[in-house]
Amino acid sequence: MNDQPIIEAVDLCIDYRLNKRWLNAIQSVSLTINPLEIHGLVGESGSGKSTLALALMRYLAPNARIPQGRILFEGEDLIPKTTAEMREIWGSQINLVPQDALASLNPAYRIGEQIAEITRLHKGLSKPEAWDRAVEMLRRVRIADPEAVARRHPHQLSGGMQQRVTIAMALSTQPRLLILDEPTTSLDVTTEAVILDLFRDLIRDNEAAALYVSHDLGVVAQLCDRVTVMYGGEVMASTPVIEMYQRPLHPYTISLLASLPRPTEGAETRLPTIDGVAPSLAERPHGCVFAPRCPVALDKCFDEKPPLEHIRDSAGTSRLIKCHRWREIDDGTLAIATTPVQAEASAPPGQHYVLKARDLDITFEKPKLWDRITRKQKKAVHAVDDVSLSIRARSTLGLVGESGSGKTSLARIIVGLYTADDGEIELLDLPLSLDLHERSREALSELQMVFQNPNDALNPYRTVGNALARTINRLVTTDMSQAAIQRRVYELLNLVRLTPQYATRYPAELSGGEKQRVAIARAFAANPALVIADEPTSALDVSVQSVILNLLKDLRAQEGASYLFISHNLSAVSYLADWIIVMYLGHIVEEGTQEQVYNVPSHPYTEALLSAIPNPDPTVEQGEIRLDGEVPSARRIPSGCRFHTRCPRKIGAICEDETPPWRDAGDEHFIRCHIPIEELIALQQTKPDAQPQPVAQAED
Ligand code: SF4
Ligand code: SF4
Repeated sequence: MNDQPIIEAVDLCIDYRLNKRWLNAIQSVSLTINPLEIHGLVGESGSGKSTLALALMRYLAPNARIPQGRILFEGEDLIPKTTAEMREIWGSQINLVPQDALASLNPAYRIGEQIAEITRLHKGLSKPEAWDRAVEMLRRVRIADPEAVARRHPHQLSGGMQQRVTIAMALSTQPRLLILDEPTTSLDVTTEAVILDLFRDLIRDNEAAALYVSHDLGVVAQLCDRVTVMYGGEVMASTPVIEMYQRPLHPYTISLLASLPRPTEGAETRLPTIDGVAPSLAERPHGCVFAPRCPVALDKCFDEKPPLEHIRDSAGTSRLIKCHRWREIDDGTLAIATTPVQAEASAPPGQHYVLKARDLDITFEKPKLWDRITRKQKKAVHAVDDVSLSIRARSTLGLVGESGSGKTSLARIIVGLYTADDGEIELLDLPLSLDLHERSREALSELQMVFQNPNDALNPYRTVGNALARTINRLVTTDMSQAAIQRRVYELLNLVRLTPQYATRYPAELSGGEKQRVAIARAFAANPALVIADEPTSALDVSVQSVILNLLKDLRAQEGASYLFISHNLSAVSYLADWIIVMYLGHIVEEGTQEQVYNVPSHPYTEALLSAIPNPDPTVEQGEIRLDGEVPSARRIPSGCRFHTRCPRKIGAICEDETPPWRDAGDEHFIRCHIPIEELIALQQTKPDAQPQPVAQAED
């Protein structure tokens, strides 16, 4: 194999034509990917990472142009090539795995046909040969029964399976370069861990190279060999992965890593944050593009753009860096705060409970009378089954589990968006009707929800002030004058660290983080006792996520609110939650304090979830437990222990036949498993034998 880089961007600029003028999106970027290298490209939204990734395959939007630079693919410049010439390369030598797998699959064609078409076109295979190759590729991405899956249509597969299919398609022609554009962002952590293992193996087996675009620093740490950090359309740093995480020299990289959530001591600490927002294309600063948010910016930084330097640092590592002050950081004379800080306001959880829920149960799509008359076997979806929980004042209960675990259904029952079939809820020691229409205005004001996507929660035609005033009017029971409402609007904005000027803005004028702050302000309009936050940070960048998590902690301390915090991000849950419940297929399988749940002993399902978290330290190996297959459909709940079809610790027929008992691990830590606690402790200090098997589609 020769050492020629697979792809090289040299001094590359990309502009977009917007509102009749050209705006610079990528400025003088240089990047090299060598054979067998997995190169991470990280940065916040708007940093230009996806534009750069697509530019490397000369796959740009019609309103884009490349005014400067070269893109060398195995030494050959791609820029002068015509679209027809590029089509020869796309699909055969450079392939893309996109974030949205379903959007890239044709709904009208069977999976096998779609993969076969690529090898027929680019490798000249006959129809039967191409079909065999498609089945072989599905087998290589560890899909069980690949012959059957090849005959299915995309909508018949789960998200994880669809993503495996796009990987199979991308690798079917043995390309030299794979562009992976956030391919695991929409997947559960357990599926993500399996897909990352696949990438690692398949890229090496194919002797390919890859560019992995991601905002997830944990994934990049575990998968990549080298990392380039982008901000405002420019490269800030490019370093071997271990050095980037262990000795970051750029203030932006240092701040990004510091803002990652992690378990911290009690409620008294707050994550370091990066103030401000990333600049838009039209507002790029004249000097260093990071200067307005940089904690150590000098006057010079605002006037003079630092050069992208190829340096050798004091430890002898060769890197690219763009900062006037990297030498001071390298020799230790300049330090940037990276440890969680002590909070001004804090208060420990109270003793009394704000919410108690007992035996909640909900089933969707129950067989109707007509189905019974026609004897149609329609299976019901038992989404939440006999769930009880309680939440103390000024505390956070974290709720974790994969998609299909029932966590969102449970939250919606509590907030009244779904009416439970059975069970009881008490709010502030008073019975709360399961039916939203029977809840009093007082009860509604005590229970608020923050949704994952603030765009869905904010009316685009109302100003922020108007939206907050309406909520105050609707929920606050005492009569308030217009002046008092206006004062309360400003108070709420202040509460979420927004200035009064935001009252006149429309949602379209706000960044994602600002919108989520407005949604939180609205939830706090009537001083609720409990806020249900359903994945409130999962649509946000890392730097914005830390701001929102800190804000939630501050509000808990200042306003005395409690949270039910639902997230697939186990690191975010570990930062915020005092207690955690883990759900699987509508059941709670473990409950305890944050510390108990994240340590031995834990339920085998919790153990697998924790093992799948990509650790943002490349020297710490990711856990090795991988879950077989996917969460079964809630229409066909497995007998005995619901987790037995995937459990790496399964002990035998008892797991298939008998519902496991609750086991008391002490100090109100409970685990639902047939394995006694002492044995679980001994077992969890060893690796389970089971290895990941080909994944079968959960039947629906
Ligand atoms: S050049 Fe100045 S503003 Fe930019 S990252 Fe370095 S210290 Fe911060
Ligand atoms: S009861 Fe059996 S299958 Fe269920 S979690 Fe325990 S060991 Fe695994």
